[in-house]
Amino acid sequence: MTSTKKNTADAMSDTKVAVKKRPDAPDDDRATLSADEIAEIREALQERLIELRAEHEAAVIGISEMQRERLADSAGDDQVDSGTKTVEREQEISLANSVRDRMIQVERALERLDEGDYGICEKCKKPIPAARLAAFPSATLCVNCKSLEERR
Ligand SMILES: [Zn+2]
Repeated sequence: MTSTKKNTADAMSDTKVAVKKRPDAPDDDRATLSADEIAEIREALQERLIELRAEHEAAVIGISEMQRERLADSAGDDQVDSGTKTVEREQEISLANSVRDRMIQVERALERLDEGDYGICEKCKKPIPAARLAAFPSATLCVNCKSLEERR
């Protein structure tokens, strides 16, 4: 009955290999990050988040100051002046929005770092190349999916 035992063992090892291998993920550019690298990325992301929060706060303060100014001296404004101020205010708002978007992006990357799926593209589930992560630690999409999203 030794042959039966051997067959079972073979079947088990076959299963193991099949489970491990992901058909949609190329093995070569898998972003394997060491614990040190993950700690480094986490630190960089957290620092970035603090910077972005300060930037966002400054932009929001700028918007409310502009609003106050507009209310305070709108009586004396001619049309050109108030037009310029509207443009300034719109620029400030779009800056605040883009900072907020980047904040959300960094927060998402930190969450994914905690969940252990950092470095996997959110769309196609393929690994994001390590070089891209090094340049953009908050990237949650691979270059392909990112450019597709931007084209939409
Ligand atoms: Zn992708």
